[in-house]
Amino acid sequence: MPLLDNFAQQKLQEITKRDLLRKLEITEQKEGIYALRTGKSLISFSSNDYFGLSQHPEVISASIEATKLYGAGAGASRLVTGNHPLYVPLESALAESKHKESALVFGSGYLANLGVITALMGKDDLIIADKLTHACMLDGARLSGAKLLRFPHNSPEKCRELLETNRKHYKHCLILTETIFSMDGDAAPLDALLELCQNYDSWLLADDAHGLSIIPPIESPHLIYSGTLSKGLGSYGGYVAASKSVIDFLVNTARPFIFTTGLPPSTIAAAHKALELLKQNLSLGQKALDNAKHFTTSLNLPEAQSPIVPYIVGEADNALALSQQLKEKGFLVSAIRPPTVPTGTSRLRFTFSSLHEKAMIETLTYTLKHS
Ligand SMILES: *Cc1c(COP(=O)(O)O)cnc(C)c1O
Repeated sequence: MPLLDNFAQQKLQEITKRDLLRKLEITEQKEGIYALRTGKSLISFSSNDYFGLSQHPEVISASIEATKLYGAGAGASRLVTGNHPLYVPLESALAESKHKESALVFGSGYLANLGVITALMGKDDLIIADKLTHACMLDGARLSGAKLLRFPHNSPEKCRELLETNRKHYKHCLILTETIFSMDGDAAPLDALLELCQNYDSWLLADDAHGLSIIPPIESPHLIYSGTLSKGLGSYGGYVAASKSVIDFLVNTARPFIFTTGLPPSTIAAAHKALELLKQNLSLGQKALDNAKHFTTSLNLPEAQSPIVPYIVGEADNALALSQQLKEKGFLVSAIRPPTVPTGTSRLRFTFSSLHEKAMIETLTYTLKHS
């Protein structure tokens, strides 16, 4: 057997021993909240498509129309010939939704964070990240060459201590957080972090991947937003929203923007239509949030701050077992294990949609209480 295969197999065995092996499962999304897995229809509490917009008939039509008009792919990077006219209305709608002058669409949320962090920061700079910020922000921080420090989750006081000791040794400083944390569902103390930015001459990058329609935008010259078109908007892609000069700077310097092909027209059109629908239906965010609160109230959990509710069980094998039990009862809820979350905090991550009905949530909580 070739050496390379030996290497991979040994590594896989180690992962399996720790109950951390992951597998790709074929899943078809249906009607916003159903998922078809191995022939079984499950009610999904596992999608980030919080408003079911990936399945909305108007979003699907917009996507089909764009393909018919412009074809299936962009054919080049945006700076070459891939800058499709559909970007213009989408980017202005995104900027408006964040109360910013401009926005720039990237190939994904991952690339948007990688792009903005590496463009702004370099080896003489300091990045201070919340301990739970998403892997792509940490990857961006590492790739930038800046000094990276991390503060305990949602502790502006600890962040302040790091700034007090370290800020003076670096040229620029960027703080990283998420508006709503992807695996814990809690909100960041943005006001307190922005106050630190003012006092310590720093900038704040807030990743709004899960906050769209949940957390209202804040206006501050210290603040940059990143986000994704792939979750609440049900399409694909990512973006950064900032002042016009910051966006122009990113167009010229963000490598994950420059050296990759533009998005397919269908994807851009779908995201734009979804954003329009969200703007016309402001109650969708509240509805998803109310569903999450109904769940946390029923189970005596701390009140949900977003449509994401963690149900921490500790060890990875327990999380897998509970997920399997729920699957047998007709619910799709993914087990989240290290390295996505810290060791010992394996969990089920429930996500609530504006389309879930109260009765579904009640059956779910009944099942959980009796499993
Ligand atoms: C999902 C996610 C991303 C990545 O977005 P994609 O568009 O899926 O690449 C970035 N940040 C956070 C917080 C996320 O949850």
